[in-house]
Amino acid sequence: MHNSTSYTLRNKRVWVAGHRGLVGSALVRRLQDEGCEILSASRAQVDLRAPEQLERWMRERKPEAVFVAAARVGGIYANDSRPAEFIYDNLMIAANVVEAACRHGVEKLLMLGSSCIYPRLAPQPISEDALLSGPLEPTNQWYAIAKIAGIKLCQAYRRQHGSDFISVMPTNLYGPGDNFDLMSSHVMPALMAKAHDAKLRRAPSLEVWGTGRPLREFMYVDDLADGLVFLMRHYSDEPIINIGTGIDLPIGELAAMVCEVVGFRGRLRFDTSKPDGTPRKVMDVSRLRELGWQARTPLRQGLEQTYRWYVEHIVREQRPAAVA
Ligand code: GDP
Repeated sequence: MHNSTSYTLRNKRVWVAGHRGLVGSALVRRLQDEGCEILSASRAQVDLRAPEQLERWMRERKPEAVFVAAARVGGIYANDSRPAEFIYDNLMIAANVVEAACRHGVEKLLMLGSSCIYPRLAPQPISEDALLSGPLEPTNQWYAIAKIAGIKLCQAYRRQHGSDFISVMPTNLYGPGDNFDLMSSHVMPALMAKAHDAKLRRAPSLEVWGTGRPLREFMYVDDLADGLVFLMRHYSDEPIINIGTGIDLPIGELAAMVCEVVGFRGRLRFDTSKPDGTPRKVMDVSRLRELGWQARTPLRQGLEQTYRWYVEHIVREQRPAAVA
């Protein structure tokens, strides 16, 4: 079995590409326990889309292990309205980082994908074998195609150059460090920001996009970081691996739970002029369970922790502007 494989991060130079993002910042928190040196490159230092900038940085910093958590990401509206950025940036990041990692002899690389790489109507829960078995969801196909290229890059370099590059497909994520901007965020932070605002304004209702019926799975980002470190240490093979909770719920129920956590008591209003996207998206996580890992944080607890972070970091920072 794969879990006989063991790679240690101890005393290694570990680069978290995308260290300021939701996933990257959780990885930086988690890696504090691994006894490794954490490397990061700010956007001002290295544009990951530019091969010559990345080349120089790799020569200087010599990472031994790489987590590729850098990506242009966004929710359903951002994906649908800025398709060129979503395909170009993500293709360039994936191709550049994989090529540079191979050229500089990186021992192990973990590429982050996404559950949206799977066909829109994939059988649920979605198993890894569903990859490329049908048409994609049109709203995020640009991002999905770039992420599929990322998987294929890892597989191709493994075959041709023997590189120990693996790809992991996380479900929808949420947690501290998320993007709470209503026009570019995913559903959970959007609902949290709207519920908080509605509570302060004593609004009678809160707007939820779509019908509220699509089913989604949500994973707390610190659980993800723990699972990624587990896979970095114990998985070394060509097939992709899903990571999620295996539990989904309707968006309407998520909205109600977020309102409870935030303390907003008004009604939900469904705006059906906004898209629903994929009708259901829940991961089959049996492969990861067999390897010996599973998520720990219940949704309600994760939402409470995220709301505390939101109030401390986002609301506090915004306050002076709101008063002015
Ligand atoms: P998806 O999982 O790729 O579809 O991305 P999202 O997280 O953006 O959206 C998930 C679902 O939540 C979709 O059905 C959206 O229509 C719905 N949704 C409801 N309210 C909102 C909102 O305020 N923002 C976003 N982004 N999605 C919302």
